Parts: sequence; structure tokens; C-alpha cells
Amino acid sequence: MFKNAPEHVFESILKIYTHFTRKSTRAACRKTIRDFISQNRHRIVCKPKTSRILPDPIGKIFNLREIYNHLNIKYFDGNLDVHITWSHRPNKRLMGTWKDTGLEKNLIRINRLLDTKEVPPYYINYLVYHEMLHEVFKQRTINGRIQRHPKEFKKLERDFPLYQKASKWQKEYLSNSIKQISGSYICQ
Ligand SMILES: [Zn+2]
Repeated sequence: MFKNAPEHVFESILKIYTHFTRKSTRAACRKTIRDFISQNRHRIVCKPKTSRILPDPIGKIFNLREIYNHLNIKYFDGNLDVHITWSHRPNKRLMGTWKDTGLEKNLIRINRLLDTKEVPPYYINYLVYHEMLHEVFKQRTINGRIQRHPKEFKKLERDFPLYQKASKWQKEYLSNSIKQISGSYICQ
């Protein structure tokens, strides 16, 4: 933006960094700079993000890629093709996400907070399975409402052999430490 800025704009920039400039002059300089910026905003071109750097799916305790591959073969005939990894940061509410838009398209993220030996493997397996179901039942909008967990989704989830055990663990151990755990699998 400043590459072809007029001389007086450069002078103003210099002046606000000079100790000897009077307060009133400095205020006028700021105004000159602000005006220039507002008139030249269109010159700022943000490069669209084309790549993303994802964290390693191999965590300290759990290898998400391995869990995903195992579940994919066992329950989905190896038909799913999504990426999986940990969230960048621990999250207090979301345990996992699946998204079908934007840069996070076809990406399952599991909360980094769960990469600890305090979390039983069956819970991680269940969670990954839940997010994988989203890939099968892509969200739909029915009567203006987004439906993320349709009946068929819930049925398959209940049929998952580790479901009961995982729900119990979630209620007992996660609800105490993390608020609003129910309905926390928000997927966009
Ligand atoms: Zn969900």
C-alpha cells in the first residue's frame, strides 16, 4: 500500500516517530496516515490460503491415523477418505469436529486435550467413529434447521460396540471437568 505513497505521507510517518515533533503536529500526521490508509485499502491483496499446516496425527499417546484406518476397514469397508489429526490447541468444549466446507473440508479434528493416558483408548475410538459417521451422513438442512445427527446416524452410533462404555466414561469423567459436554460434537 505504501509503495507508491506520496511524499507527504512518508513525511508524516517519519514525524510521528521523531521525539521532537510537537503533539499537535503528530496528531495531524496520524490523520494524514489514517486518511491515506482508508483511501488505499483496496491495494491490500491478501493471498488466499492454499495450504494448511496440520499437526501430526501421531500424538503422545494415541495415533489417530492408525485408529482411523482400523475403524475405516472394520466399519466402513475402507470406503472413507478423510484426513484426521489433533486440534492445534486444547479445547474446553469440543471433543471432535468434522467439517465439509472451507480449508477444513474432509478433516476430522480430535481435541488435543484427550491425548493423555488418562483417556481410555475405547473413548478415542468411539470419538473417531462418531466423527467418521459425519462423513457418511453429511449434514442436511431440513426446514431451515441444520441436522447433524439424523436418526440413522444415532442408530449406527448406538450399535457401535464401545458406545455404552464410552458414553458412561464421558458422563463420569469428562462432564466434571468440561462444561457443556453434551451436544458438543459441533460440526460445521
Ligand atoms: Zn457429531
